[in-house]
Amino acid sequence: MKKCLDWSNYHDQGMGDAYADIPKHGGNFAKAISVCINSGVCQESNNRGVMCPSYRISNDPRLSPGGRVTLFKTLLNQDGHAFVDNPELAESLADCVSCKGCKRECESNIDIAAIKVEYLAQRRQAGYRSLRSWLFAEFPYLLYRFPILKASIALRNNNKWLAKLGGQLLKINPDIDLPQPAKNPYRDDISQQQRNLMSSELADDPRCVVLLIDSFTAQFNPEVVDDAIKVLTAADYHVLTIHPKSLGSKVIIDSGRSLFSQGFIERTRQQANDLMSILKPHLLCNRRIIGLEPSALLMLRDEYLMLNLGEEATGLANNALLFEEFIAREKVAGRFKADFIAINTNQNVLIHGHCHQKAVGAMKSMRKVLRLIPDLPFTFIEASCCGMAGSYGFEAEHAKKSRLMAEQDLLPALAADPNAMVICTGFSCRHQISVLGHRQVIHLATLLARQLK
Ligand code: SF4
Ligand code: SF4
Repeated sequence: MKKCLDWSNYHDQGMGDAYADIPKHGGNFAKAISVCINSGVCQESNNRGVMCPSYRISNDPRLSPGGRVTLFKTLLNQDGHAFVDNPELAESLADCVSCKGCKRECESNIDIAAIKVEYLAQRRQAGYRSLRSWLFAEFPYLLYRFPILKASIALRNNNKWLAKLGGQLLKINPDIDLPQPAKNPYRDDISQQQRNLMSSELADDPRCVVLLIDSFTAQFNPEVVDDAIKVLTAADYHVLTIHPKSLGSKVIIDSGRSLFSQGFIERTRQQANDLMSILKPHLLCNRRIIGLEPSALLMLRDEYLMLNLGEEATGLANNALLFEEFIAREKVAGRFKADFIAINTNQNVLIHGHCHQKAVGAMKSMRKVLRLIPDLPFTFIEASCCGMAGSYGFEAEHAKKSRLMAEQDLLPALAADPNAMVICTGFSCRHQISVLGHRQVIHLATLLARQLK
């Protein structure tokens, strides 16, 4: 079997090289599966944290990380390709929301989200194609190429017959609104030439940072970019931005997250190479690369290392930070210079963490940053995945399970504090909270910008 991802660097962080029952076929991919020692921890009913949303709502062992491993092992012991056509595995993996809860919380750190991407890529190669999957994968790029899609989304959201038609033709959940792009996406007026000049003038300036604006934030929440720039500038950083149109209209700069999640590996690699070429001069100056959307930024730290992108990918991974991680680190180092004022109401603040944020332990940084606002009363919502998970919540066959995931802890926590301000940095989670929880949600950058002294 020729693998689509590079599994050669895969190593189990939890158990050294103690692999259990490595299947006969699959090489390093099979090894990555075999870090599961069948402990059953992922099937315990009192698990906190994130692992495993599909098991939590079903109590079905086949929908847990360990259950998925068992299926994989059986099939990889038959031959290198049996897993591609197996309906039971297809059903089980369809309900994996790629939250990476297992990568953090399983005692062997099994990474089912990455294993699922290899599986999807192998399926595509074997001829399993779907228009819906292609649309979800290419959505951010299509939105830039065909701005008329914005009007189509508004039309579909306001017309139940069109929503039903989309449900029948594309199996998109007709009962949920699609996110509506902003009237004007983020764009800056600085030409690439000016940017290069600024960048070289600031070459030795340690306070020069790069704000990497992902396509979802740029298209749907451009105000968050302005807020982040406001906060970083107030803290005395020189902010250079890289955004989807940084290289003009022909190339759209983006992490490639939507492509990767659907198993489009070659297209992801192409996006990653484009992004890395524009980031290269900044990495040579050792600049921090800051992102606002967890799943987009954390791609650079995690999945890029499985794409055969060369040494530079390691340099990028070392310099990529979430907005809250950057501020928390800078504050601890005594370099973050902005001050904040208290909120003039006693409104509580509820924070919902994106699963990938939790998977890298970034909630600690969120806590540190929220403490910069004097006397801020805040509570972290103890919940697993919100159930939206990229495209999962939009897929008609997953509508019920997506809602069940939200209903487990997230929606009750929101209902218990109806007047609280809700903060979340994940694009998908914000949408889920707004459509199922009927609450307005803001990004951390917006809260900080509002409270700047
Ligand atoms: S996936 Fe991890 S937690 Fe689940 S059975 Fe295997 S080793 Fe245990
Ligand atoms: S990535 Fe999330 S949903 Fe998928 S197996 Fe792991 S914990 Fe379960």
